[in-house]
Amino acid sequence: MAQTYKLWMAGREVPGRGAPCHTASHQDVEDAIQTANAAFISGSWSKASRHVRADVLEKVAELMQPELPQLIQLEVQQTGRAIREMKAQVPSLLRWFKYFAGVLRTEERPVLPTVGKLHNWLERVPLGVVVQITPFNHPLLIAVKKLVPALAAGNSVVLKPSELTPLTSLLLGPIFKKAGLPDGVLSILPGLGSVTGKSLVSHSLVRKVDVTGGTAAGRAIGSIVGGNLARYTAELGGKAPLVVFEQANIDAAVNGIAFGSFVASGQTCVAATRIVVQSPVMPALLRMLERKCAFISSKMGSPFNEKSTMGPLISSRQLQNVETLVDECVSDGTAKIVCGGKRLIGTAPLDDIDFSKGYFYPPTLIVSSSGNSIMNSRIWKEEAFGPVIVVVTFDTEEQGIQLANDSEFGLGAALWTQDLSQAFRVSEQISSGIVWVNTHHRNDPSSPWGGASSASGVGSENGIDAYHAYTTTKSIIINHASSDEALAADDWFREGAGQVRYG
Ligand code: NAD
Repeated sequence: MAQTYKLWMAGREVPGRGAPCHTASHQDVEDAIQTANAAFISGSWSKASRHVRADVLEKVAELMQPELPQLIQLEVQQTGRAIREMKAQVPSLLRWFKYFAGVLRTEERPVLPTVGKLHNWLERVPLGVVVQITPFNHPLLIAVKKLVPALAAGNSVVLKPSELTPLTSLLLGPIFKKAGLPDGVLSILPGLGSVTGKSLVSHSLVRKVDVTGGTAAGRAIGSIVGGNLARYTAELGGKAPLVVFEQANIDAAVNGIAFGSFVASGQTCVAATRIVVQSPVMPALLRMLERKCAFISSKMGSPFNEKSTMGPLISSRQLQNVETLVDECVSDGTAKIVCGGKRLIGTAPLDDIDFSKGYFYPPTLIVSSSGNSIMNSRIWKEEAFGPVIVVVTFDTEEQGIQLANDSEFGLGAALWTQDLSQAFRVSEQISSGIVWVNTHHRNDPSSPWGGASSASGVGSENGIDAYHAYTTTKSIIINHASSDEALAADDWFREGAGQVRYG
């Protein structure tokens, strides 16, 4: 029998009143936010000692450990991502709990250089009710990246996972409860962006919204959040360049390109989609990349197959987007396909599954029909969000940097070179929030993750900055002068006051 997943609210599963399949209605949103606000005001979590909060986060990591196999299976089932990827990604999420528990236990409070007999220190206090909205591509990873710093800081959180992949996030609710998170501090409300999401981000009690999604959704949500004068973090789209210099180790670069481009079937915000290659190494690189693509294609099959290299795209809509962008650059004459370029149908050589039952698209390599003509097509500029890469070429370092920066996005970027000076020089000139050198798509709880251009977002996840962005500062100023000193120095309206305090 199919399992039913309900909403997670006030420390228990409750049926949703939205459309079938337990999505949250406007009234569910109202209930969750009121409950979250009441929990915040009660202080049971928001004013709990930082060590208590750290204990709970560490306990969640401990309790998640035995749940990992179930979470991995469910993540594969709902995303279609190859199980090999999920077996690597899901266990790594425990690091976020440990890192932010560590931040709580070691955070120092600055004492400021104020003059006079004043002791001025800063406390970081939570904001209140915060709303988090996540996408389909890394459901658990992104939920964890957002939940942990927000809860560490003492906020109450309402999380809305993607309507396409809500299940694993829901399983976090009972784990947090068992670990000691007070009821009401965390609610998880699946639902459509246009219904549940909109209702959540519009609520006047919400003090911060943190969304990961497409640039269009980010702008729509931001305009509402701005109207409420709430805080905003948005992790949005990308069109990451990957620059290969002739000084690179080409074998390593090809492995990096394949990982950066095809993991999650290319459905990541930092997918290496614009491969920018120095001309002397272009022929060798293309040959090796084509071989790699052929290998990956030959090992595609059921996402549950341990040997599967790449799963399907998430939806027919996503498949259509990829097909449209690829077909367009070929039919307008700007590009030619080196390999891939057509949806897979028929039987998988790996395990005989029927490709046409999923939205399988092979690794696809596209080059210009002449010069760098592909730069005139939409696929050079827009997110395809599929396993499709475009390769262009350059002669000088300066040209390579120009091509890399030729985008409205600015999230992730990579460059490959063994020349250390070049690595420093070029990474400084690349306009993006994250630059990897001789690697791609590294993600650590301590390492900031955010866009450097508005199309890629506002603010960042991970690290101390993410924790700070879930707090506001409280400046506490204590006058420690003796009564006699205070009477002598602080009576502004004394007759003939002379040198007394002002300001
Ligand atoms: P999406 O924008 O369709 O949806 C993301 C989330 O926003 C979903 O939960 C959706 O229900 C919600 N939503 C959409 N419109 C909304 C609205 N008007 N009000 C409230 N909520 C709304 O994105 P997606 O297709 O799930 O994910 C793919 C996109 O996410 C890509 O553009 C990708 O680059 C981006 N992404 C960015 C990062 C990053 O770290 N910058 C990471 C992963 C994905």
